[in-house]
Amino acid sequence: MRLDSSVSTLKGVGDELAKKLLSVGVNCVGELIEYLPRKYEDYSQITAISRVRPGPVTIQGVIKQAAGRYARRGMHITEAVAMDDTGSLKLIWFNQPYRVASLKLGQNYYISGDFQLRRQRLGILNPSVELVSDFPVNTARIVPIYRETKGLKSAFIRKLVRETLPLIRSLPETLPVWLIKQEGLIPRADAYESLHFPENDAQLQNARRRLGFEEVFRITLASLMNKLELASEKSLSIPFDEKLAKEFVKQLPFKLTNDQRKTVWQIYLDMQKTQPMNRLTNGDVGSGKTVVAVMAALMVIKQNLQVALMAPTELLARQHAETIHELLDPLGMADKLSLLTGSLKPKQKKVAHERIKSGDINFIIGTHALIQDKVDMHRLGLVIIDEQHRFGVEQRKKLQAKAGHMPHVLSLTATPIPRSLALTLYGELDISIIAEKPPGRLPIITKLCSPNSRPQLYADINQQIKNGRQVFVVCPTISESGALPLQSVEAMHAQLSRKYFKDRKVGLLHGKLSSDQKDKIMQQFLAKKYDILVATTVIEVGVNVPNASVMVVENAERFGLAQIHQLRGRVGRSNHQGYCYLVMGDSSAPSRRLRAIETSDDGFKLAEMDLEVRGPGAIYGTLQHGALDLRIAKLSDIKLIAAARQAAQEFIDRGEDLIQYQELNKHVMQLRAITNLN
Ligand code: ADP
Ligand code: MG
Repeated sequence: MRLDSSVSTLKGVGDELAKKLLSVGVNCVGELIEYLPRKYEDYSQITAISRVRPGPVTIQGVIKQAAGRYARRGMHITEAVAMDDTGSLKLIWFNQPYRVASLKLGQNYYISGDFQLRRQRLGILNPSVELVSDFPVNTARIVPIYRETKGLKSAFIRKLVRETLPLIRSLPETLPVWLIKQEGLIPRADAYESLHFPENDAQLQNARRRLGFEEVFRITLASLMNKLELASEKSLSIPFDEKLAKEFVKQLPFKLTNDQRKTVWQIYLDMQKTQPMNRLTNGDVGSGKTVVAVMAALMVIKQNLQVALMAPTELLARQHAETIHELLDPLGMADKLSLLTGSLKPKQKKVAHERIKSGDINFIIGTHALIQDKVDMHRLGLVIIDEQHRFGVEQRKKLQAKAGHMPHVLSLTATPIPRSLALTLYGELDISIIAEKPPGRLPIITKLCSPNSRPQLYADINQQIKNGRQVFVVCPTISESGALPLQSVEAMHAQLSRKYFKDRKVGLLHGKLSSDQKDKIMQQFLAKKYDILVATTVIEVGVNVPNASVMVVENAERFGLAQIHQLRGRVGRSNHQGYCYLVMGDSSAPSRRLRAIETSDDGFKLAEMDLEVRGPGAIYGTLQHGALDLRIAKLSDIKLIAAARQAAQEFIDRGEDLIQYQELNKHVMQLRAITNLN
């Protein structure tokens, strides 16, 4: 047996079970070993029968008699009696007719299960039984519970993993010896054995620490290596023109916030270097990132180099082009700007391309298609990425190939990134945070609603529409699925347009529409062709509809706080008071988590809370990448993360050669390709 042997080589795994294992991602023995328990149940204490109390118990005894019979409605019941020196009790199995034949009367067994009264029977219900041995798998120990599917039960998985134990025990070490010593980590083989067959809590904790450490170490090592590699690339130094910056700031209709000023300054320092900038500006919705980006662009344009701004959708690109046009106009630089999107006519495109080539245009705004396009980018100095997380090494290399040098890269995001996450997943980025909001903003009024308060909610909405405002209604799913009692955009749209808002115009938007269709509907909403837009979270990203004042989130309990915060940032973007109604799926009391969003307007705080309760996936709904999910380490474990991060730095400082660590190398290389989420 080897790690890459198929699971079919294990005893008891036929085609059927192999398929089931495959469905949970287990194809070979190595993947089975990596299939870690979800939780544990402690059956390690053996209790004398006379002292058994209701609840989970383990006894050790002899099985005296066993008989099976069919009861009403075809139910099969097996009953047996177990005995030890202190007494006897009943074992009861429902619908497991094979039990009788498998029990060896008179033999000594470990028996674990729930001792309780059910259907007038007092006994251990559906117990696990196992002949007494020094390595019980299903009883008389801390028992692992795996993620199960129909026909694939933990008891069976345990048996399979037990078969691989010799292989687990010979798992090779993956981390450098000095590191293991320095951090007091247990050997990798021991860690896997303990996670599958823990003897006590301390063992479990040591195992988790060992594997969690390795997990974070790999990710941070990958991002540090990416950072180093990028720093060795050449880019063009962009000098700081103080006069131009002052002139720009002077004509703005507002004063920059301190955070905006600090961020701009950091960017200017970065861009003066001949190493490429890789900076993420992280600021809540409405914190004023656009001005910051434009100030970065100014210096590049001044050098007669090019700036490319990429937005996630065409509509957003158009909105940016308009805003930026206004910002540049007073400096007489607006004619340096061009929108370049897929919907331009071939002729317009050709003109734009020519003007870009001639240096007539320096500031190009478009979608991601920009970099695939036949744009002449040999003078590209700066790339700005708005709300777009998927811009990594690949794209950067492409641009480098076109330009002959690495452009500086500035990413903008409104997704609040907690510090712990920034240090791990985003380790290769320099981050500027704009925490401060421009003064004078009206905070959005947020209310939790039970589903029976809909009449009042719809009356409030109607009033807003009467006042000329518009409304977003966000639902978690597209269509009714039956399985989950969740609001779907289709059902909600039908209900609102046919029942509650018959005289209003209700639009529908979701991710299954083509991007052209989505753009068109958003455009129509913007032009007030709809009063209400029922949508999935596709509207989360960036579009500015200043006239919208109400955001309704259905099944609010299903969303992450950071996500709700983003959604509510879609309204209250003008001088109209914004409202956010969070409608619960049922009328039970809302969680503390949801209560928090009623009172807090701090995106970072909410993101931290999400991270604690729901893990990084909740924050990065759009950005989930299986390989980046921490399986063992917790991002809330600041100490572990700091230690692993420091170790990764030390690994580099020592001049260690990754090639020497085959397994580690394999993982780090994979991660290097995907940690570039900036
Ligand atoms: P976001 O960070 O969400 O991209 P924007 O750049 O779209 O935010 O800015 C939101 C609004 O705030 C814009 O109308 C912008 O003109 C305005 N704004 C930006 N900075 C300031 C400031 N310092 N004071 C007042 N208003 C500002
Ligand atoms: Mg923005």
